[in-house]
Amino acid sequence: MDYQYDLFVIGAGPGGYVPAIRAAGYGMKTAVAEKDFVGGTCLNRGCIPTKTLLHSAELYGEIKRAQEFGITTAEPAISMEALKNRKIQVTEELRKGIEGALKKAKIAQIKGKAKITGEHEVTVEGEDGIQVYTADKILISAGSEPARLPIPGADLPGVLNSDGLLDRGEAPFDSLIIIGGGVIGMEFASLYQALGTKVTVLEALDKLLATMDKEFGQSVKMVMKKRGVDMHTGAMVQKIEKTEKGFSCVYKEKEKEQVVFADGILIAVGRKPCTNGLFGEKIEIQTERGRIVVNEHFQTSIPNIYAAGDVIGGIQLAHVASAEGLHAVAHMAGREEEVRLDFVPSCVYTNPEIASIGLTADEAKKQEIRVKTVKYPMSANGKSLLSSQERGFVKIVFDEETRKVLGAQMMCARATDMISIFGTAIANGLTVEDMKKNMYPHPTFSEGIGEALELA
Ligand code: NAD
Repeated sequence: MDYQYDLFVIGAGPGGYVPAIRAAGYGMKTAVAEKDFVGGTCLNRGCIPTKTLLHSAELYGEIKRAQEFGITTAEPAISMEALKNRKIQVTEELRKGIEGALKKAKIAQIKGKAKITGEHEVTVEGEDGIQVYTADKILISAGSEPARLPIPGADLPGVLNSDGLLDRGEAPFDSLIIIGGGVIGMEFASLYQALGTKVTVLEALDKLLATMDKEFGQSVKMVMKKRGVDMHTGAMVQKIEKTEKGFSCVYKEKEKEQVVFADGILIAVGRKPCTNGLFGEKIEIQTERGRIVVNEHFQTSIPNIYAAGDVIGGIQLAHVASAEGLHAVAHMAGREEEVRLDFVPSCVYTNPEIASIGLTADEAKKQEIRVKTVKYPMSANGKSLLSSQERGFVKIVFDEETRKVLGAQMMCARATDMISIFGTAIANGLTVEDMKKNMYPHPTFSEGIGEALELA
C-alpha cells in the first residue's frame, strides 16, 4: 500500500526531531507533528530555560562576590522581566535552529494535535482544521508533563509547577517552599537561593536526589544548608492552604506535624507521560501506569508504531529520548544504531554541578561486581581554588580485577561537561591505565580526573 510518508513522528521534542532528521538521512520521507513549539519540554519548559536562568543567577552570585576577586562593583540587581526576556530570546533562537534543520532535511512540519486513528493513520487537528495523514511507520514521542500531587490544596490558584515558575516575570518570591527534593526541586532551590529567596525544601524520602549516588544528596544538603536553605528530608507534605500573603504547607517529619509559610510554592514531585488523547477508538496500545510499553526496538504492541522518550517512562532525560528515538528509526530502516543505552550520563545543574555515569559503588555491590572506588577532593584542585569554588569531588568506580572503568560521580564546577570523558572510557571498555595515558592539562578542572586516576 502507498502511504504519504514513510515515517510520521508525533512530538518535536528531542525524542522526535532528532530521530526524524536521522530518518530523513536514511532516505525516509518524514513528517513531524507538534501541537506547541518545536524543541519540546527540554527547550521550551525544561533544560534550556532553567539553565538560562541558572546561568544568570550564577553570574549574579559571582558579581556579589566580586570583591573576593579584586573587583569593586555597585550592588547588582536582578530584573526578572529582563531575565525572562533573555530566556525567551535563547529559546526562540534555538527553536529557529531546529526548524531550520527540519527544513533542510525536507521534513514536513505539521502544526497541531495529532491522534493515531489507524495503524497507519494519524489525524491532526490544527489551525487549518482537521487533516488525515498516512504513514508506514509512526513514532510517538509525546513527552511528559508535571505530575499532580494528590493532597488537599495542590490545585489552589498560585500553586506552581516547574512550567508555571519558569513563566513568572515578577520579582523573585521573598520566600518559596519547594515540595520534592529531586532534580527539579534541587535545581530550583539552587536558583532561587542565588536570587535571594528564602527557600524551604520538603522531601518525603530520607535523602535528596534519591536516584543518584547517596553522597550527592548528602553533599548538596550540606552546601544548601550552609547557604541558608531550610532543608527537610523525611518530610511528607500533607496539605497546602492559602494564607493572606501566600501559602502554608503542613508536613509530617519524625511523626510530628509541622507547618511552614511562604509567598510561593513549587510542586516538583516527578513527571508523567503525555498519552491523553493520543489514540483513537480503533487503536489499542498497551500501556502500564500511564506509560507506553515498548520492546527492545522501541516497538509498541502495534509493531509499526514505535515510541521513545518520556512517554515510555524510564529515565526522563532529553539525551535519553534522542538516543531511544535513534534506535527506533535505525530498527525501522534495518540499520544498527551505535549509541549505547545501558549507561546514561546524568547531570544536575545545581551550584556546584553534579554529574554521574555508569555504576556507583553501591550499585556494583548489589550486582555482586567487585569494584574499587577512588575519590579526589576538588579542594586540592588549582582551578577550583583560583576560581573560589565550593567543596566537591571526583569519584571513579572500576572493576577490581580487569581495572575497567565502570562508573564516575562528580560534584564540582564543570562536572556536567567533564562527565563525557568517562562516558567515552566506559563505552570503549577503557581501564584506569588507559585513561592515565592522557595528559590532563594544567590548570583545569579536568586535572581532578587525572589526580583521581593517580589514586587508582
Ligand atoms: P524526581 O522524581 O526526581 O523527584 C521528585 C521528588 O519528590 C522525589 O524525591 C519524591 O520522593 C518527592 N515527593 C513526592 N511526593 C512528595 C510529598 N508529598 N512530599 C514531599 N516530597 C515528595 O522528579 P522531579 O525532580 O520532578 O523531576 C522530574 C523528571 O525530570 C526526572 O525524571 C528528572 O530526571 C527530569 N529532570 C532532569 C533534569 C536534569 O537532568 N538536569 C532537570 C530537570 C528534570
